[in-house]
Amino acid sequence: MTVLIAGAGIAGLSLGLTLHQIGVPFRIFEATRAIRPLGVGINLQPNAVRELFDLGLEQDLETIGIRTRQYGFYSKHGLRIWEEPRGTWAGYNWPQYSVHRGRLQMLLYDALVARASAECVVTGARAAGFETHKDHAVLILDSGDRITGDLVIAADGIHSALRARMYPDEGAPIWNGRVLWRATTQAEAFFGGGAMVMIGHDDLRIVAYPISDPDPDTGQVTMNWIAEKRFDPAIGWKREDWNRPANIEDFLPDFAGWTFDWIDVPALITGAAQVFEYPMVDRDPLPGWTVGRVTLMGDAAHPTYPVGSNGASQAIIDARMIGAALVRHGIGPDALTAYEAEVRPVTTGVGLANRGSGPDAILQRVEDLCGGRFDDITEVIPLADLAAHSERYKTLAGFSVEALNAKPPILPRDARIG
Ligand SMILES: Cc1cc2nc3c(=O)[nH]c(=O)nc-3n(C[C@H](O)[C@H](O)[C@H](O)COP(=O)(O)OP(=O)(O)OC[C@H]3O[C@@H](n4cnc5c(N)ncnc54)[C@H](O)[C@@H]3O)c2cc1C
Repeated sequence: MTVLIAGAGIAGLSLGLTLHQIGVPFRIFEATRAIRPLGVGINLQPNAVRELFDLGLEQDLETIGIRTRQYGFYSKHGLRIWEEPRGTWAGYNWPQYSVHRGRLQMLLYDALVARASAECVVTGARAAGFETHKDHAVLILDSGDRITGDLVIAADGIHSALRARMYPDEGAPIWNGRVLWRATTQAEAFFGGGAMVMIGHDDLRIVAYPISDPDPDTGQVTMNWIAEKRFDPAIGWKREDWNRPANIEDFLPDFAGWTFDWIDVPALITGAAQVFEYPMVDRDPLPGWTVGRVTLMGDAAHPTYPVGSNGASQAIIDARMIGAALVRHGIGPDALTAYEAEVRPVTTGVGLANRGSGPDAILQRVEDLCGGRFDDITEVIPLADLAAHSERYKTLAGFSVEALNAKPPILPRDARIG
């Protein structure tokens, strides 16, 4: 009995580790020739960190990640709108981590190879299609090879070939008119380190957080940042590609004057060795992810705007939910249906919230109410409103403190198939 997984990103590798843990044979087929540490920073919410700890990766995460201590919103004048503690500082039983996406991917890959074998990840193997039959499924590669297994799981990201087979009329991801520029720069940490900040409003903003400890010699950290600017969606944008290099002149002038006593945004931008450009895209939620013995997970299932630091976390949760469903229902279509029934409503809610009323919506509200200038934020928005807004999103995305701490593990450490 074998589970065939398309894609060795965060989703596919987390699923591989989960299947190894519960004793299910699997193979991962990855399109790229080699797994390389690509990307910049991402955040792992405590619900996903809990799952990685349950996979025995506690020490490794502590090595590559920075514990996110604080999260806050600031107006375009650098004024504090809202700050809240995060991770264990907020009372969670598990930390939140800021990590380099590529280092996380390598950590998962190395752990998988060490625990299972190097053969369980086949590189240079691009999934192109699938078949689902009464008692087996087939993963079809673009080489024409046909691999037979019990289940096929599509973890092949936002451009999922298998999703396109399931929904041939869907077309390209939907661009909302914003472009993201992503990079890292060696810089001074702010607010005592471990702080994640969102500054600006819907048309222009910057997100920044450290993904390393301070260098012992310079005292500087590797600061991850994402600058974001809104264009008219009618102009169209280049196809989304996580690795497209950018020209900072396309957005640096917009941030002129964003130098505050705690962060120097223009210096952050000009200090980056390389900047990547990515259009802010998502896809409409699907009415279903599962066809017989085939299902979708991670960005293949629910690509969303990267506004709530939730994409990689949800990919990890998907993997664990698939594992739990297999333990409960056995290796067959019923498990996939059960996984989808539990997860799809959550990701649909998060995806739609990220389009409008996600956590960042507070920035535009302040911009609309006072142009980002105020002496006392509580005269602009009551504190209770700010707190309620923040809590709503955490509840929606499955990481409210009380609920997560009280929740039993998705997969007990000793869970095994058969
Ligand atoms: C190179 C890269 C860099 C990224 N950088 C960032 C970042 O800096 N910040 C951020 O927030 N998010 C980034 N992301 C996206 C982020 O990893 C995802 O949103 C999230 O982690 C969900 O993971 P996923 O495994 O579902 O998708 P992904 O991480 O996108 O992984 C999909 C995997 O499938 C492989 N693949 C694609 N098509 C096929 C196919 N037909 N057959 C087989 N394999 C296929 C891809 O090569 C990739 O390894 C990046 C993704 C990639 C691929």
